[in-house]
Amino acid sequence: MNAAPPPAYTGRFAPSPSGPLHAGSLVAALASRLDALAHHGRWLVRIEDLDPPREEAGASQTSIEQLARPRFEPDGEIIFQSTRHARYEAAFTQLQAMGAIYPCSCTRREIADSLRVQGASRERHDELVYPGTCRQGMAAGREARAWRVRVDDTIIDWYDRGRRQWFREPLADRVGDFVLRRADGLWAYQLAVVVDDHQQGVTDVVRGDDLIGSTARQIHLQQLLGMPRPRYLHVPVVIGRQGEKLSKQTGARALDASCALESLEQALSHLELAATGAPDIAAFWSRAVERWRESHWMGAALG
Ligand code: GLU
Repeated sequence: MNAAPPPAYTGRFAPSPSGPLHAGSLVAALASRLDALAHHGRWLVRIEDLDPPREEAGASQTSIEQLARPRFEPDGEIIFQSTRHARYEAAFTQLQAMGAIYPCSCTRREIADSLRVQGASRERHDELVYPGTCRQGMAAGREARAWRVRVDDTIIDWYDRGRRQWFREPLADRVGDFVLRRADGLWAYQLAVVVDDHQQGVTDVVRGDDLIGSTARQIHLQQLLGMPRPRYLHVPVVIGRQGEKLSKQTGARALDASCALESLEQALSHLELAATGAPDIAAFWSRAVERWRESHWMGAALG
């Protein structure tokens, strides 16, 4: 007998437990689940607890509980990145065997200095474009700090379902060779997310548009590792009173479980969908899926 075909749609919500979920996280969670429901697909939750220095004790458990009240019900076991190092290591080894990665001894300061010498300008908050110092080998006597993947002259063309827009990104100009294993020995988010999305069979990544800048790097890794590319849909992140991206780092308020329905309606309105006026959470979900299905978010044909 043949194995069952993989589901046509698998989506996911992948919070990092740097704090409890807040209104911004709820928007990403809601969009990803509505898109999955609207496509009769699967929806998974993955806890991205790969960065212990940035984690808040108990935040993984809190996030899981916060999802339960408004009835975000994953269609599968919740996975934790902290238990999956062997998988990241295997992908890393595969890239190493291909000669796609190399050790780098540069400190952040050295990278900034060499960019200055080259006259490369950069905005204050832009990522540093790695100038390739260690690409042909580290200078004598220097020790490896991080591992980087070569981008060469790769140009990534990718389509965002939400914006209905193509992006064309020459990786060398955007980020240069980027880090897969950090100087502190931790796996970079870019590697872990690609390995897990593939292993979980994710066909559709729906997340906040603060991650738009990571997408081309993730596609580059998928291409190197021979993995299929998921579709991408980025939704607007929630902006705080001071114009900052709402995040755990900027002290965003945790979601209040006692007004789950109200928080869901607010998240829906952030996605530019009209309130459902539902009397309870079950009704909210069925009405919200209809809203999503009829909205511009769905309009773009898949594929
Ligand atoms: N863990 C990431 C975050 O919380 C999201 C990863 C993703 O959706 O690709 O910002």
